[in-house]
Amino acid sequence: MIPKSFIQDLLNRLDIVDVIDRYVPLKKAGTNFVACCPFHTEKSPSFTVSQSKQFYHCFGCGAHGTAIGFVMEHTGMGFVEAIEDLAKGIGLAVPQEASNNITQVKVAPDLYDLMQSATRYYREQLKVTPRAIEYLKKRGLSGEVAARFGIGYSPDDWQNLRAAVSNYQDASLVETGLVIEGEGGKRYDRFRDRIMFPIVNVKGQIIGFGGRVLDKGEPKYLNSPETTLFEKGHELYGLYQAQKAIRAQQRVIVVEGYMDVVALAQNGVEYAVATLGTATTPFHVQKLLRLCEQIVFCFDGDKPGQKAAWRALENALPQLQDGKRIGFLFLPEEHDPDTYIREYGRDAFEHEVENSLPLSGYLLRELTAQVDLRTQEGRSALLKNAQPLLTAITAPTTALILRKEVAALAGIEQAELEGLWSIKPIAAPRRAAPPKTKRAAPSGMRSLLRCLVMKPELARQLPSDWQSDGAEGAAIHALTDWLNESADETSTASMIQHFQGSMHEPVFSVAQGEVMQWGEEFDVTAEFEGVLKKMRLDAIEAEMNALLAKGLQMTSAERELRARLQAESNQLKAQAS
Ligand SMILES: [Zn+2]
Repeated sequence: MIPKSFIQDLLNRLDIVDVIDRYVPLKKAGTNFVACCPFHTEKSPSFTVSQSKQFYHCFGCGAHGTAIGFVMEHTGMGFVEAIEDLAKGIGLAVPQEASNNITQVKVAPDLYDLMQSATRYYREQLKVTPRAIEYLKKRGLSGEVAARFGIGYSPDDWQNLRAAVSNYQDASLVETGLVIEGEGGKRYDRFRDRIMFPIVNVKGQIIGFGGRVLDKGEPKYLNSPETTLFEKGHELYGLYQAQKAIRAQQRVIVVEGYMDVVALAQNGVEYAVATLGTATTPFHVQKLLRLCEQIVFCFDGDKPGQKAAWRALENALPQLQDGKRIGFLFLPEEHDPDTYIREYGRDAFEHEVENSLPLSGYLLRELTAQVDLRTQEGRSALLKNAQPLLTAITAPTTALILRKEVAALAGIEQAELEGLWSIKPIAAPRRAAPPKTKRAAPSGMRSLLRCLVMKPELARQLPSDWQSDGAEGAAIHALTDWLNESADETSTASMIQHFQGSMHEPVFSVAQGEVMQWGEEFDVTAEFEGVLKKMRLDAIEAEMNALLAKGLQMTSAERELRARLQAESNQLKAQAS
């Protein structure tokens, strides 16, 4: 766990303008900075960054957040990864809370340098190896695409890398997996006579290699082992190069091999990535769903390909999000994406992608194929097989629809199935808000929230008996709680970061957009006091009206109260003028 205080400190030290400007060049416009939004396609800039408040907000697509949120959203990094990256950029070390069991891996920068040297060496070797060039040419690869992916060649020798490094005995060579140390300490290169595909992380650093044989030979694909740099279940080949296209298309294709990724890019499909000799992990799915709306898995048409697709489905289930799409494309058995696109071209391939089988369709197809639904045993087996899969889904709508379908297939009622699987019925839709009394106008809550977004610590000055209302009121309550827990100095950015992803995020987001145009000279404290006064006056008025309605029934105590309220009202109004 990264301590909260550190996140706060980090946000205080960073300048969001510097952070974003590294990825998206910003222009000054009034008090803020603007650019065309990197998260949606637009011609005139609605992406706005507030330097004084340290957050960004897009008036086009609603994207919003802090520097941390931006890096996550833009690069697909996870929360911890983004924090580490940002901290490193300003020379801060990320402390770990004592309770953590995640070991902090320190990566010396020279390991990255070493990978860089090896890549350079392999690329040079490709240039002087006609056989390797011929192989790539035969597969339709241009020099431009080969260069874009940093493709190289490792010669057919035992100690090639002697030519690339100053000391072949250095421990870092084994640590990065480039060299293998055999019995008796004899060393040799891991990759020999292979086309070399550098594996690049989202930051653009080379963390490993994939090597493919040119002709026959085993294994066909050889990957770097897991090292301090390279964690297979987390990385995807080609993601660094594909990021932009994935965002633009709002779609990513997941394939099995590096050659597939490169061949698709060569043919104009630039939004493909490959897993690296592992099944698609939940982490992969999560990472990709952060970047776009749709994932299409496209594996080879053969048996292992089918198996890989099913594993991908299993690992995708817990990550499903209502509204995001996951599809499966099954190519004819003799094809992989590489051969298919070379034979039929981009349009045909993309047509297949458009018509990929939705995850739900694939799931039901496989479940029903395994059993005979005409028999009672078959229907009961269907329910048994479906249970672990369907209960792994947390996306409520998707889960509900699939349960309905499986129940129908098994010939039982949905409620019966849910009873059988002990699934709690989905809570009834929240009751409509009770009819509003004449108390604080909703606009009061909204104005209040705007002030608090500008200056969260003002929430400490809220009177203890203030009347909250609606979603804004609930958000203000949550903000007050957060403020009470935060001993450190608070800021707009740390508040936004705290509520990112919470149920209150939508109302905070609206308020953030609204305060974006408030200039530095805007007196938030005066506005805040004005709003509170207005809310108090509204409350007094409502109470007095209620008393007046009693007319002659008013008790003497109530008459007194009414007089007091009238006096307070007069006093407040006098102050206002
Ligand atoms: Zn946008």
